Amino acid sequence: MDFDVIIIGAGPGGIYSAFELSKTKPDLKVAIFEGGHELKKRHCPIDGEKIKSCIGCKSCSIMSGFGGAGAFSDGKYNITNDFGGTLYEYIGKTQALKLMEYVDEINLEYGGKGTKLYSTAGTKFKKICMQNDLHLLDASVRHLGTDINYIVLENLYDFLKDKVTFFFDTPVESIEVVDGGYKVICGDAEYHCKKCVVSVGRSGSKWMEKVCKDLSIPTKSNRVDIGVRVELPAEVFSHLTDELYESKIVYRTAEYGDRVRTFCMNPKGAVVNENTNGIITVNGHSYEDPAKQTQNTNFALLVAKHFSEPFKDSNGYGESIARLSNMLGGGVIVQRFGDLIRGRRSNPVRIEEAFITPTLNATPGDLSLVLPKRILDGIIEMIYALDKVAPGTANDDTLLYGVEVKFYNMEVSVNENLESCYPGLYIIGDGSGITHSLSHASASGIHVARNLSI
Ligand SMILES: Cc1cc2nc3c(=O)[nH]c(=O)nc-3n(C[C@H](O)[C@H](O)[C@H](O)COP(=O)(O)OP(=O)(O)OC[C@H]3O[C@@H](n4cnc5c(N)ncnc54)[C@H](O)[C@@H]3O)c2cc1C
Repeated sequence: MDFDVIIIGAGPGGIYSAFELSKTKPDLKVAIFEGGHELKKRHCPIDGEKIKSCIGCKSCSIMSGFGGAGAFSDGKYNITNDFGGTLYEYIGKTQALKLMEYVDEINLEYGGKGTKLYSTAGTKFKKICMQNDLHLLDASVRHLGTDINYIVLENLYDFLKDKVTFFFDTPVESIEVVDGGYKVICGDAEYHCKKCVVSVGRSGSKWMEKVCKDLSIPTKSNRVDIGVRVELPAEVFSHLTDELYESKIVYRTAEYGDRVRTFCMNPKGAVVNENTNGIITVNGHSYEDPAKQTQNTNFALLVAKHFSEPFKDSNGYGESIARLSNMLGGGVIVQRFGDLIRGRRSNPVRIEEAFITPTLNATPGDLSLVLPKRILDGIIEMIYALDKVAPGTANDDTLLYGVEVKFYNMEVSVNENLESCYPGLYIIGDGSGITHSLSHASASGIHVARNLSI
């Protein structure tokens, strides 16, 4: 065997798995195979001037490389079982929380000291939300910010680089089951290991599907979340964001009984484009450094769509809606809430005259031509509901960017050790469909490292 353990993917799942292995089982020979670049070589070529849009790099530096999809993210580590994944269904709620707290300790030790931990515990907003038919989910959130998140990753790499063998720019093509372990194939090279931890995230979703098909590992299809990103003056939500930073609020619509939820709140942040397989969708982030902050707060409003037989391609459904917005707007569309309600498109003049400056250069348009009626009705209902706890949310000038889509991986069948039907083959992080967040993915890595025995 070349290695005791091979980890595929150097996102949070893979990194924390390697970290814990090197702490608890330092004698093991561990390797990480990563399709993307090492951290310092990760640069997206879009500079807004010479290169304005995605040129389809062989390995996308935003999604791939050391740090995974989270490397340039807002670095919000939510410590909760209420959202961010269903790890607790496999390992229990108490254990899941303990592991997320442990990840938080590591983040503090490796550069995050001094960052703020926000919490919903004891907040008055829970009651205010309930009184208005809104439900505030419980969570503590460590906000590292894009800048500190990067420093933590640099420090973790420095710690790991002499203990683990890294193979960057080395996508794994396939995994084969061999006597006593696994064979990992990358181009012309083959490597053997006793145990294999697969942590390939969202960007590895298609590859993961193929591995499961080839090895007959059972899976089930998942959901897709579709909606818009809301941007408004930071003052409108400041009473909530100052105390909680991020408030995850859920609303059940009166008309259809659908659940609409806030997602990824970025106080004084910026709305950004996201490129998923060539389709431009919208996202948001914010910086810890006050010098980089804006006047606006943004957050997503999302509706989850689950499909049942015979339709299985929930991600394909989300992609088609995003493609429609790209077809009409050449990318992301922006619309004033007032224009949406009056049934008219926003145009450059109406956006220009608004009392808010958009942080993303999107195409003014009409989201009602893109989003299915049921989803759009739910979003409008929730905006009016939020207006009761944060007056000003339903102002005419509130900006809606569309579409925002959250794709999920299909869920891979694993046991309480996150081990597949093949002993010693573990599937963790977002690639397993079980986690959808930094803290849950990291916790799944620690869990496997602790339970893996050789
Ligand atoms: C813009 C953005 C902002 C985000 N902000 C937040 C946030 O603030 N808070 C939060 O909780 N979550 C956030 N997320 C989600 C979060 O980043 C993910 O949930 C998390 O990174 C999942 O970790 P992971 O290790 O499972 O997968 P990933 O981070 O996706 O890492 C998987 C790695 O595997 C590699 N890989 C894939 N296939 C192969 C292969 N065949 N061979 C070798 N390597 C392979 C990929 O290159 C990648 O580096 C954000 C995501 C994005 C895109």
